Amino acid sequence: MIDLHTHSTASDGTDSPARLVEVAARAGITTLAITDHDTTSGWTEAAEAAALYQVGLVRGAEISAIARTTGWGTGVHLLAYLHEPTHPDLLAETERTRADRESRARRMVDLLAEDFPITWEDLLAQTKPGTTLGRPHIADALVAAGVVRDRDEAFATILRPGTRYYVGHYAPDAVAAVRAIRAAGGVPVFAHPGADARGRIVPDSTIEELAAAGLGGLEVDHRDHTPDTRRRLRDIAESLDLLVTGSSDFHGAGKQNVIGENTTEPEVLEAIAGQGALAVLR
Ligand code: AMP
Ligand code: ZN
Ligand code: FE
Ligand code: FE
Repeated sequence: MIDLHTHSTASDGTDSPARLVEVAARAGITTLAITDHDTTSGWTEAAEAAALYQVGLVRGAEISAIARTTGWGTGVHLLAYLHEPTHPDLLAETERTRADRESRARRMVDLLAEDFPITWEDLLAQTKPGTTLGRPHIADALVAAGVVRDRDEAFATILRPGTRYYVGHYAPDAVAAVRAIRAAGGVPVFAHPGADARGRIVPDSTIEELAAAGLGGLEVDHRDHTPDTRRRLRDIAESLDLLVTGSSDFHGAGKQNVIGENTTEPEVLEAIAGQGALAVLR
């Protein structure tokens, strides 16, 4: 059972990297990818736990990016697997994104504080130092303040794009991000490209453009994709000679997603391993 998309407390998951690996091992996962948003800071702890629990580990990250093919920007997520974590171009972009995610969280908390009992300290109380900040942490602060029941309710109401509290954040251009991931020796896979319930998705032409820039695969099997969307994406992957992955996008207790609920074929993992600069730890 291979699950190539999970989050820890290095970003917006609720399990520490070590606990994430333990949860995966107990669920029968044989190879796990840790893919926190815009950071690799969970890798060392996850690697130690992977050795302890005898789980294969793909070191990765989920890179925030913006696709501009169509004129207006569409936020997209690119999974980067097995890249050199210190490669300057990609690192500069993720550091810029993380810094702006913090400013953005401050702006959102300022706006929310006009109507709800929430402070910056309340948000920090929900995170570890160095965490990539995101709306889920703001949601946790709102839950702690008794404003909403859980992250789902926060996302369905107050934190939705379009509310007066929503603020966007910097992210690199998607074509540039694909190139930066490849330059760092990584394998770029487009995360949940057809997740239209959570926002705008890109047209097929963008996937073609990203493939031309070096995209390695599409995450087809993901809970945010309907059966129709999966069929459509599988066809696109075949026509562009892209790998097909499936993953849980597990966030611990922060989301409904269950670890291992979607999985990736062993041949696809081997293809990713063959293209990446780093080894799969086993
Ligand atoms: P941000 O990147 O800060 O705008 O926040 C988006 C993140 O929130 C994504 O990584 C999602 O996984 C997560 N997310 C989206 N919807 C929900 C939800 N209903 N409950 C918990 N997390 C969510
Ligand atoms: Zn997330
Ligand atoms: Fe994502
Ligand atoms: Fe994710």
